Amino acid sequence: MTELDLLDTVPTGLLIDGQWRPATSGKTFDVEDPATGRVLMSIADAGAEDGAAALDAAATAQASWAKVPARERGEILRRAFDLVTARAEDFALLMTMEMGKPLAEARGEVTYAAEFLRWFSEEAVRVSGRYSVSPDGKSRLLVTKKPVGPCLLITPWNFPLAMATRKIAPAVAAGCTMILKPARLTPLTSQLFAAVMLEAGLPAGVLNVISSTSAGATTGPLIKDSRLRKLSFTGSTEVGRRLLADASETVLRTSMELGGNAPFVVFDDADLDAAVNGAMLAKLRNMGEACTAANRFIVHESVAEEFSEKFAARMATMTTARGTEETSKVGPLIDAKSRDKVHELVTDAVSAGATALVGGAPEDGPGYFYQPTLLTGVTESARLFSEEIFGPVAPIITFHDEADAVRLANKTEYGLVAYVYTRDLNRGIRMGEQLETGMLGLNAGVISNAAAPFGGIKQSGLGREGGSEGIEEYLYTQYIGIADPYAS
Ligand code: NAP
Repeated sequence: MTELDLLDTVPTGLLIDGQWRPATSGKTFDVEDPATGRVLMSIADAGAEDGAAALDAAATAQASWAKVPARERGEILRRAFDLVTARAEDFALLMTMEMGKPLAEARGEVTYAAEFLRWFSEEAVRVSGRYSVSPDGKSRLLVTKKPVGPCLLITPWNFPLAMATRKIAPAVAAGCTMILKPARLTPLTSQLFAAVMLEAGLPAGVLNVISSTSAGATTGPLIKDSRLRKLSFTGSTEVGRRLLADASETVLRTSMELGGNAPFVVFDDADLDAAVNGAMLAKLRNMGEACTAANRFIVHESVAEEFSEKFAARMATMTTARGTEETSKVGPLIDAKSRDKVHELVTDAVSAGATALVGGAPEDGPGYFYQPTLLTGVTESARLFSEEIFGPVAPIITFHDEADAVRLANKTEYGLVAYVYTRDLNRGIRMGEQLETGMLGLNAGVISNAAAPFGGIKQSGLGREGGSEGIEEYLYTQYIGIADPYAS
């Protein structure tokens, strides 16, 4: 399909109660291609009234949706998996067009995103409770799980399909209705995905989509509405903190998948070629615009030079181009602001003594490209040691012993993921025990998997997505105490 033909298949309205409709205000907004700066298409721009209508629809549909048998909900997800898989090329191209990632990576995201649909189609029928006799032998304890109710799902721009399916699939499996607010910069993938969910048989009102340029004004009132029972947010720690404060007003249940500052630790006994392969994935996947992106390479001083040289040689082969081009190994950053912030961090590190072995500058337009960059001699005081880079920049800092590596790795408010390369399994396990992160890649540069619990600790968030834990975020536990059935 050509790019124009594909855009023709993307709904332009808001999805409310099973109908695509214009925004109440009549407003629309443009979605751009970050590789060219050109407008791809315009879609409806939701406001507070549309948010309210979406919550009305979700709240109304909740009771009947919760009664739909789990098997049927699972089968809708399974059909959605088949449909997304059949249209994998369309989804991949659309993500490349609106987000910028190279087509090969976009295809990888489609596979990963679809897997949440398949995984939760299977988990839908595994929700269970328990029946037991109380310790004193008198009463009976019945424990059941119920859908938490209407959910607000807010997603970021960096993984337009996977961040949506990672929330929508468990919510559907659990029997919740929902309102999705995709990121303003990449809403088209969610628009197309919502159409696929309808085609898969999702009833009206279960999934409502309100793309918007006024996130706070559109979703703020929903968070304060007592009919909303859950907020699941993926995005920056800064916005997450604000939403948590808002959610406290109604004691709203929340899941927060926030920012990261992943350490990538290379010990002196590591297989350095494997470590460089892992580093390439952990750093350059998604142009470094991933919460799981390795943000700090913490390398043993005795292998730092060899690791840096090998890593630099690989980085130098990474050509930038629009993601649809065959030569594209690294796409553009999402917008000018993000590109400028990356350059600011690089400039700050260099002025503090770091050396750019590769890259170190933005590229000329059009588009928001930044050269893949490798910095050595980075110090702990450099801003990019503590701030999320969100770009193709790899800073290397050295350590002298295990305790030093642990200290450096944990020196952050974030705690999403860490990567450790060593041939010593005991050391790997010790690192797992000492690192303050929700996830660890041991000799692995990518660990995302629909069957695993994804999530962070410290200021990287609350809750888990994926795995058997993922559906729990959309269920609440109810306990029913039953009087002694033998009492007269
Ligand atoms: P962001 O600026 O926090 O935005 C995330 C989402 O929140 C967008 O849909 C945004 O809408 C919306 N939003 C912004 N302000 C809001 C408000 N006041 N009320 C309600 N919604 C609001 O983050 P981003 O730049 O899109 O994404 C990058 C961040 O996400 C990084 O920090 C990254 O680490 C994190 N992330 C975390 C994970 C994880 O699983 N832990 C995964 C992916 C990304 P607009 O688009 O309109 O601004």
